Amino acid sequence: MSNFKLEKLVRENILNLTPYSSARDEYSKGAGTFLDANENPFGTYNRYPDPYQTELKNKLAEIKQVDTSNLFIGNGSDELIDLLFRIFCKPGKDKILTFSPTYGMYSVSAEINDIEVISMPLNADLQIDMESIQSLIKNPTIKMIFICSPNNPTGNSINKVDIESILQDFNGIVVLDEAYIDFSSQESFKDKISYYPNLVIMQTLSKAWGLASLRIGLGISSIEIIKLLNKVKPPYNISQANQSEALAALEKVAEQKISVSTILMERAKMIREFNQMDLVTKVYPSDANFLLVEVKDADYLYEQLLNNNIIVRNRSSVMNSCLRISIGTPKENQLLIQTLKRQATLITEKV
Ligand SMILES: *Cc1c(COP(=O)(O)O)cnc(C)c1O
Repeated sequence: MSNFKLEKLVRENILNLTPYSSARDEYSKGAGTFLDANENPFGTYNRYPDPYQTELKNKLAEIKQVDTSNLFIGNGSDELIDLLFRIFCKPGKDKILTFSPTYGMYSVSAEINDIEVISMPLNADLQIDMESIQSLIKNPTIKMIFICSPNNPTGNSINKVDIESILQDFNGIVVLDEAYIDFSSQESFKDKISYYPNLVIMQTLSKAWGLASLRIGLGISSIEIIKLLNKVKPPYNISQANQSEALAALEKVAEQKISVSTILMERAKMIREFNQMDLVTKVYPSDANFLLVEVKDADYLYEQLLNNNIIVRNRSSVMNSCLRISIGTPKENQLLIQTLKRQATLITEKV
């Protein structure tokens, strides 16, 4: 770590901010007569939720093998992305660096916060072109670098040595989005947060835990950065219903393991199936729960699948003639294969 100083990176208004102090901040003994928050005394969901999601965080800390003080919970990763912008980037002045093609929310959130995005294309191996970013890493107006690994929509992991070298040399914040890490052959960077004070890892319960509708995004970082996130977040950002549901779901570790391993087996099967199809020209390697598939005419095929009520993601605007296809249940995958094979016959007959 060359010269990282957290206080210098944080926007002054955030450093000086007196955060909202919630009614419950001063009392943590559990049961009591609560006449402090203008709640309705009757009902089931009548109380404000725990602003720090203590129980849920303790459970997550156990599962992720990190300390509770290194954990932040956002209303989806999307909230976390926005909070990071508000903490570290001055609107109209600062910039971020991303590697395209990648997850769309980084640049949408940047635009909402009036932050310029410098987007460097990944190289032919879908890796970061380390040489071409050397001057950008030294540029002090670039406050954050977003690395998505495994990357969406390409599916591959970014080289570990390159991530480490950016963490070493960059004096801003490195946001490492590990939304798909549980499907990956690579290890998480979560055990490196004490080596790299500029590292913010994002994970989520939306993918491997199958809880997308509960909106639980995780930040794993230094205590200092977690404190800043807690300072800026809306006090009650995770509803009590969502905290309870997530906590209950996290007890079902065995089921979660089975679902992930089923998805991995199905992914292997789908790679084999796609590779046998004439209309598929390339299947990209995947460390995630989706496949990026290059086909002969992505726009046409996408429409045909839609006509059959099968919805995939047309990524031909960012990756030439590519569809991004999530791995579904064995039955759903079978249906997709059958539909594609029927489509292939139609195309052949048309010619
Ligand atoms: C799906 C996904 C997420 C998850 O976002 P949530 O808001 O937590 O549901 C984050 N990053 C990437 C790259 C994703 O593809």
